[in-house]
Parts: sequence; structure tokens; C-alpha cells
Amino acid sequence: MPGKILILGGTTDARQLAAKLAARGDLDVTLSLAGRTEKPAPQPVPVRTGGFGGADGLAAYLAGQGINLLIDATHPYAARISANAAVASEKAGVKLIALRRTGWQSVAGDRWTPVENAQAAVTALGDKGRNVFLALGRQELAPFEAAPQHSYLIRSVDPVTPPLDVPNARYILGRGPFDETEEAEMLSAAGIEAIVSKNSGGSASYGKIAAARALGIEVVMLQRPVLPDVMSGGSAEDVYAMAVHALGLAKRGE
Ligand code: NAP
Repeated sequence: MPGKILILGGTTDARQLAAKLAARGDLDVTLSLAGRTEKPAPQPVPVRTGGFGGADGLAAYLAGQGINLLIDATHPYAARISANAAVASEKAGVKLIALRRTGWQSVAGDRWTPVENAQAAVTALGDKGRNVFLALGRQELAPFEAAPQHSYLIRSVDPVTPPLDVPNARYILGRGPFDETEEAEMLSAAGIEAIVSKNSGGSASYGKIAAARALGIEVVMLQRPVLPDVMSGGSAEDVYAMAVHALGLAKRGE
């Protein structure tokens, strides 16, 4: 095989990119997951699971496995692994390409309140009790225990255990994509007054943002973390083409 690729994943983009690269038949592609999700979505290529032990551990993995190309296709808010990828690629002398989906831009009718992080979102929600929809990863939920005056509706892929230490919280399980119509029904039925969201970009989780606009609901939007400045493409298609070029392979099946 002329190319051994490690994709750092955990996103739909990573899965789609892995499928596209593997379909060529001339690449050895492995996808890496952090192991956070109990039942991860099926992947089109072999998967390795769990942390590497920081940037040094990742560099050692790249060298040990003879990886020719590292692709960081992790979620835009997974800042630590992206920083590790940049350091490890330098250290191991392995090319790195990042898949960096552009964030959503607010448009007329949106009621966005930009905040730096989950703690700032708690402040932005205010002192008066409101019906709040939290569409955040499990790790970001803890700060909301400081605001027990709100009633929370919390959606996550896996159950939130232990549940938040607040008097009013309801939990729903779900893995996107979610379309605007079903999101609007859910938000209306629950009487949601504010949504706390990450600016994930892409279409899979945009339904709630579009529905919030239509319903006049405030969106408290967590800013994106700063990521290392590395060669990057904005979609699986872009990064596929960049990977093929970086490995000096013939174009095919695009
Ligand atoms: P993070 O804070 O950037 O990373 C924390 C640690 O988890 C890393 O230092 C690394 O451990 C390990 N890790 C993260 N991604 C990994 C991967 N793909 N393969 C192997 N190890 C990985 O990451 P996070 O925000 O907790 O996200 C974890 C995973 O969930 C990512 O793969 C990401 O794509 C996915 N995800 C995250 C979000 C989000 O909002 N953050 C949303 C959807 C999906 P070591 O240092 O030991 O190597």
C-alpha cells in the first residue's frame, strides 16, 4: 500500500472521508475514536479506540504504525486532540491535514447571544427561571448545576449519568441528523425559551438553529475554540482531494 492513513474521527465528516478514501482500494485507512460513545456509529474502515497518551503518545503511534498521513477530522470543539495532532505530526515527521468545517453565520431573524464557554452561557441565561434546551456534549453540562432556577431539556447520544443536580431536568436521547420540522415541533412542545448550542457547522445539527429562528427563540452560542493553524479543507471532498495529492496518488472515483 502506498498510503497508510490515520483519521482522527468521532464525526460524520470523518466517517464519510474514511469511506471515500477506503473505496479507492489502494489505501490502508484506520479511524481513531476517543471511546466516549457507548454505541458508536458503524464505521467503513478498521477502528482503534481510546486516547494515545497526549501528543507524545500520538507521535509514537504514528511512527510505530508507519503512518504516512494524519487527518484530523475531529469535532471543531475537540481542541485538545487537534493541538496534539499538530504537535505529533511535527514530531513524527508525518503530514497533517485537518478537516475544518466552517461555522454557521447568523442571518436575519436569528437571536444569537455569543458566549465564550458553558460557564458564560450560564451567566447569559440570567437569573429568572427559563425553559432551556441544552444541546451540548455530556462534559459541558456540569456548569448548569450553578443555575438550578431553569428547567432543562437535555439531549445527548448516551444517557447523562449521573444526572444534573438540578430540580427540573428532562433527558432525551438522540443522534442527529435532526431536521428543522422535527426540531421545531420538539422545541414548541417543550415551551423552550432558550437554546445553548455549539457552532458545529454543517447541516446535521442546523435544524434546531433554523427552528429557533422561525420560532423567535434565543440561541446562546458557544464560541469555537482556537485551533492550530495547519493545512485544512472545509469538507470531506476537499480533504479527500488534498490527501490524494499529498500522497502523490492518481485521482479516481471523485
Ligand atoms: P478533546 O478534549 O480534544 O480530547 C481529549 C482527549 O481525548 C485527547 O487528548 C485524546 O486523549 C482523546 N481523544 C479525543 N479525540 C480522539 C480520537 N479521535 N481518537 C483518540 N483519542 C482521542 O476531545 P473531546 O472534545 O472530548 O471529543 C472527543 C471525541 O468526540 C473527538 O473524537 C471528537 O471528534 C468527538 N466529538 C466531540 C464533540 C465536542 O463537542 N467536543 C462533538 C462531537 C464529537 P490522549 O491525549 O490520551 O490521546
